[in-house]
Amino acid sequence: MNTDPGAPLDPDGTAVVVGASLAGLRAAEGLRRGGFRGRLVLIGAEPHPPYDRPPLSKQVLAGTWEMERTGLRDEAGLRELGIEAALGRRAVSLDAVARRLELDDGTVLAADGVVVATGATPRHPFAEEGVLVLRTLEDCASLREALLAAAPGGRLAVIGAGFIGSEVAATASGLGLSVSVVETLPVPLSPALGETIGAALGGLHGRNGVHLRTGVAVETVKAANGPVLELTDGSVVPADVVVAGIGVVPEVGWLEGSGLTLENGVVCEGTLFAADGVVAAGDLARFPYRGEPVRIEHWQMAADMGAAAASALLAGRAGAAPFEPVPYFWSDQYQEKIQMLGRPAPDDEVVVVDGDLESRFVALYRRRGELSAAVALSRPRQLMAYRSLLERKAGFDEAMALAKGAT
Ligand SMILES: Cc1cc2nc3c(=O)[nH]c(=O)nc-3n(C[C@H](O)[C@H](O)[C@H](O)COP(=O)(O)OP(=O)(O)OC[C@H]3O[C@@H](n4cnc5c(N)ncnc54)[C@H](O)[C@@H]3O)c2cc1C
Repeated sequence: MNTDPGAPLDPDGTAVVVGASLAGLRAAEGLRRGGFRGRLVLIGAEPHPPYDRPPLSKQVLAGTWEMERTGLRDEAGLRELGIEAALGRRAVSLDAVARRLELDDGTVLAADGVVVATGATPRHPFAEEGVLVLRTLEDCASLREALLAAAPGGRLAVIGAGFIGSEVAATASGLGLSVSVVETLPVPLSPALGETIGAALGGLHGRNGVHLRTGVAVETVKAANGPVLELTDGSVVPADVVVAGIGVVPEVGWLEGSGLTLENGVVCEGTLFAADGVVAAGDLARFPYRGEPVRIEHWQMAADMGAAAASALLAGRAGAAPFEPVPYFWSDQYQEKIQMLGRPAPDDEVVVVDGDLESRFVALYRRRGELSAAVALSRPRQLMAYRSLLERKAGFDEAMALAKGAT
């Protein structure tokens, strides 16, 4: 084991990656790509080799893809990279100073480098009432089975008009269910995207025959003739299937007492180091983005951060480069594609530079004279033009000039 706390990872030492999903896999691949020759262990609580989650609310839920298509790398692929996969096994503790981990079967592992990538778990307040959530392959299979048993004409109630709830609503509507979405916020997505764009994206539901109710919360879910949502305004929403998409919590319980700082995720430096020899990546990592600590639950972020965490570990805490991404997110709903670059704040100024909010559009976000983000509805090529501007923190005027040149 290296004794210099900031030293690069010994390329012939032992590295342990905890969390066998997108961020963990990209970290393990990155370690090999970066020349790590030593023992590489990938620990995953799920029984499956790493797979992709976005299709679970889209193609797999709709039945247009088989589940197998979500695989990111199968067991043979993991072996090819010399990765020892411990699947169906959970890490139960970490001593960050000693870099010592314990698994749920009592195995103890000593590592020179550790990647923490255990992601996030859905909030699930109505689990006992039979309300479903969607995160894993098993969740997707259960939800699809329930939707097919109810379709056509059955009723789905979705709690939460965030991206996952909205995608499930869109997919279920495509399967012939009658769908209602209940959202506590007066304007869906407004804490992330602001009211103007939140309202425009929320409008997709109504235009596609899905009933969106905003500004009202679910108080209880009662079993009557099928589940019934009782709302805070006294009204009820009867349903055949209920699914909740009300956010996730970072999966950090196993890190209590590890010595890492846990505060809405694993707090890490700009280089993704959370302690000497310990890096974090993906949905659970809280890192500084343009000076502000953030935790970003997007596919591209988990993939990029996994690779960057591996590079950082190889370089060592003293020599690692800061992780400076341009956040990117997409969501497919109905026949539309929502995409976002950058990181908007709800009170940023919003300028629609292409199309209009009732149909397809590109909107730019301005904060302190800079372009902070760009959001588009079904305008993929136009949106991507702003990526390089965000990368070099361009001024808003330059973004507007680009927009004028493009129209
Ligand atoms: C249905 C769905 C649709 C999505 N669609 C989109 C989309 O359209 N666009 C987009 O940008 N993003 C989307 N996302 C988000 C994206 O999938 C996540 O950001 C990404 O999966 C995060 O990867 P991760 O590796 O950090 O965490 P996760 O994918 O959560 O993986 C963490 C893994 O660690 C395991 N684990 C947890 N605790 C332990 C432990 N103690 N020991 C060992 N293993 C453990 C978990 O079982 C899990 O397999 C979607 C997510 C879902 C659920």
